[in-house]
Amino acid sequence: MSELDPTTIESDKAHNKTGNKKRKFIACFIAIIIIGLLIPEQHIIPVQNATNSDWNHKTFWYDPWGASGVHKGIDIFAKADTPALGATSGVVMFSGHLKRGGVVIAILGPKWRVHYYAHLNSTNVYPGQIISSGDVIGTVGDSGNAKGKQPHLHYSILTLVPYIWRVDFDRQGWKKMFYLNPHKRLKDQG
Ligand SMILES: [Zn+2]
Repeated sequence: MSELDPTTIESDKAHNKTGNKKRKFIACFIAIIIIGLLIPEQHIIPVQNATNSDWNHKTFWYDPWGASGVHKGIDIFAKADTPALGATSGVVMFSGHLKRGGVVIAILGPKWRVHYYAHLNSTNVYPGQIISSGDVIGTVGDSGNAKGKQPHLHYSILTLVPYIWRVDFDRQGWKKMFYLNPHKRLKDQG
């Protein structure tokens, strides 16, 4: 059989060198994705001492919602400067200022989900920092386009792995493959 002939194997090796590298890279990539999906996700309400009565249960994807069109998260109301907590463990990707969100933090957590915290008064984390669920990451406020409104933490969950089956005909309904409803995940807590 030619498959067992060493010369054939050698030439195959040379021929498939690039192919092997590519396959190794893809296998490595898939392994990283799977490891990310397997990291356990301990999910808490990201405001100290908050309960599920501190946000309106029906504002996720509420339409109309100002400049954003629809509301892609929930607003957890609290007194200004109440500690904001990491909802899950993760690595800080962004901590800084955006026009609409004000002082915001984005943290990549388990399952390739980015947790986004906005309208903070302050942040005390930096990009690259690893945090645990429940760590203080900043303080609740009214920054960005919440200026002058009742202080609250805007909290969104974005999945980098698209949930295509969630798409519907609501306004911006295609974006539902990326935005998960935090209320569904937090309603049974506190
Ligand atoms: Zn909001």
